[in-house]
Order: sequence, then C-alpha cells, then structure tokens
Amino acid sequence: MNRTPEIEIIRRKQQKRIIVRKTDKHRLRVSAPVRTPMREIRKVLKTYEEQIMNLPVKPDFHIALRKPKTLTIFGARLPVFYQNGPSDVTIAADRIVVVSPKDDAATIKNLLEQALKHHLLKTTHTLHDKMRQQHPELEKCHPDFYTRYTLSRFGSCNKAKNRINLNLALVHYPVQCLHSVYAHEVTHLFVAGHSRAFYEQLAVFDPEYKANKLNLEAYHRIYLRDNATSI
Ligand SMILES: [Zn+2]
Repeated sequence: MNRTPEIEIIRRKQQKRIIVRKTDKHRLRVSAPVRTPMREIRKVLKTYEEQIMNLPVKPDFHIALRKPKTLTIFGARLPVFYQNGPSDVTIAADRIVVVSPKDDAATIKNLLEQALKHHLLKTTHTLHDKMRQQHPELEKCHPDFYTRYTLSRFGSCNKAKNRINLNLALVHYPVQCLHSVYAHEVTHLFVAGHSRAFYEQLAVFDPEYKANKLNLEAYHRIYLRDNATSI
C-alpha cells in the first residue's frame, strides 16, 4: 500500500455484513452493522488489504448530492443555489434552487435526491404518455415507474408486478439515455429475455436503439469515470 487510505465508517441498523467500497483512489467507505467493534473492522481491512486496494473505484451518488455547487441534469450542468426556509427544491432550465430549513449536507442531500427522483419520474411519465399516443399496443400499458440510484443496472422490469425500475443516475445523462432505457424496459412488458422477438419489438418503440445503447454506455463512462462528485 503506497499511501494509507482515508477510511470512512458508517454503521447501519439493517446491515448484516461488513461491506468495503473504494470511493476514491485513497478513500474507503466501510459500512458495518451497528454494533461491530472497531477491532473487527480493522481485522477485515487487514485480512483483505490486497483485494481492497485492487477494488475499482465506485461512484457514490450520495456523496455527489452533499451540497454540490453544480449538478448535471439531463446533460446540462446547472449551478445550485441555497436558501434558508421551508423545504423546497426547484429544478429550472438554468439553475437549481434548494430551500432548506437546515444548512447541513445530509438534509440537503435528502431534499435533492427526492427532487431528482420526482424530476426523473415526471419526465418518464411525459414520455410514456407521448409513446402511448404513438403506439396503440401501449394504450392499455400502465406500469408503475420507480427510481433510485444503483450501481449495477440502468433499468429493470418486473412484468408480474407491472413495475419498471430506472436508475436515478439517468437523471444526470442526456435525456435520450432515459428514452432508450425506458424503451428497453417497456419492451420487456411484452417480451421476456433478449430474443429476436424482443429486438423486433424494441425497434418499434426505439428505432435508434443500437445507436442509443452505444451512446448510453459512452455517457456512463464519461460521467462515472472518476468519481461521483463530478456529476
Ligand atoms: Zn433487458
């Protein structure tokens, strides 16, 4: 180990195991069950030192929302302004205004995350309404849309529950990326798996799906290359 990493420790009630993530080249985030003694955490870090240092840096969206100066919304980098008052967040075309009763990072993070979820879901519903007008097969299609930050997937579809999950990270990418994930997941309401029939239906909902997928992956790399504070 060239340099001793900074270690941030978070204790969570629901957690059963010690989980170590690298949030920066020299920073580790350790989350552990509430009553884990420090010596146990140290032991885990020591035992797995080599593997831990070789972990890829994972973006942490939750850190990115701790009172940022700017935030990227659908590809546009917007300045964020802060005011004191009853909770309210406005996401306008040229700025974000956060009104918060408290000036601490955790309160602001929660307000921003809720506002981003709302913004993503509102945009998705508008898109879905437009698609339903264009495609008669979608007319009776009313999935529930959910969103949260995840590190694994852009979207997933639960056909049995008529539910589509979207990665909240999409609120930061150009809106075309959301369109493309939306089309992919809505197609799964008709066809499970990635068969030929799936791609035929996807091409109906998103004729540019091949180019859009490449775009999505490229943006994903751009935004997530360093760490989440850059988004
Ligand atoms: Zn799929």
